Amino acid sequence: MKRGGVISKRFLKSIRNIVGKENLLTNEVSRYSHSYDATTLSYMPDAVVIIKRLNDIDKIISLANEVGFYIIPRGSGTGMTGGALPTGGGLVLVLDRLNKHRFIFNHLPYIETEPGTLTSDIQNTAQLYHYFYPPDPASQEYSTIGGNVAEGAGGPHGLKYGTTRDYILYMDVVTGNGKNLTLTRGKDDNIIDLFCGSEGTLGIIKTIGLGVLPEPEEHSTVMFVFKSVSDAMRMVSSIIR
Ligand SMILES: Cc1cc2nc3c(=O)[nH]c(=O)nc-3n(C[C@H](O)[C@H](O)[C@H](O)COP(=O)(O)OP(=O)(O)OC[C@H]3O[C@@H](n4cnc5c(N)ncnc54)[C@H](O)[C@@H]3O)c2cc1C
Repeated sequence: MKRGGVISKRFLKSIRNIVGKENLLTNEVSRYSHSYDATTLSYMPDAVVIIKRLNDIDKIISLANEVGFYIIPRGSGTGMTGGALPTGGGLVLVLDRLNKHRFIFNHLPYIETEPGTLTSDIQNTAQLYHYFYPPDPASQEYSTIGGNVAEGAGGPHGLKYGTTRDYILYMDVVTGNGKNLTLTRGKDDNIIDLFCGSEGTLGIIKTIGLGVLPEPEEHSTVMFVFKSVSDAMRMVSSIIR
């Protein structure tokens, strides 16, 4: 979410009061290490805030609205589109410590999670209960689920099972003007889909309900050898059909 201008030193004090001094980083090393993502482009933020409580997000946004400064949400910084880059300075909000999640047994079981949970932790939790969370970006061991939603991430399972977007049951978000919304699949489909791939420009995703599937009974890897690329493509097409 990017709003307002560059943060002033005066308001760093207010931010410190919200998150505690150990979670506001202004030294050059910390700022530099949050200045880039997987694009390897680098833009120095004015400060970095490690968010450890969901409620602090609302407080920071409300301060940003009051005085005007840029906020750049960040998960693990593995994005390849530059969405987590503080191109105009401002405050990088690091969300990867918000990683509480739980499996909920229901008539349709699901996982409720904070945004900083690693994708692989979601997959492992599903597996623990003999369920399956299919979205599998190659960065799954490092990327956060909030980053996956904001990037609309997916992987090889996408062809058969779909991508992150297809597993969102609901999301709690706070928009740039500080409005809290609960978006529910079936009711707010357009807004949920708009958030997927919005790269943090619409708001911060705080809680996500993710659908899971029953674990496949069997899976294995098979290798086929083809005489030509077109033979291989024909077989892929016939499998998809
Ligand atoms: C080695 C590697 C392999 C990859 N493989 C794939 C792949 O197979 N498929 C694929 O789709 N992508 C892949 N990616 C890119 C992919 O988009 C990211 O890995 C992942 O989705 C980003 O998660 P992150 O936590 O690192 O987010 P970040 O890089 O920190 O942020 C990405 C964007 O999300 C925003 N954001 C983060 N958290 C929130 C939040 N809570 N609320 C709102 N906005 C937020 C940021 O502002 C930024 O715009 C790969 C990247 C790498 C480095």
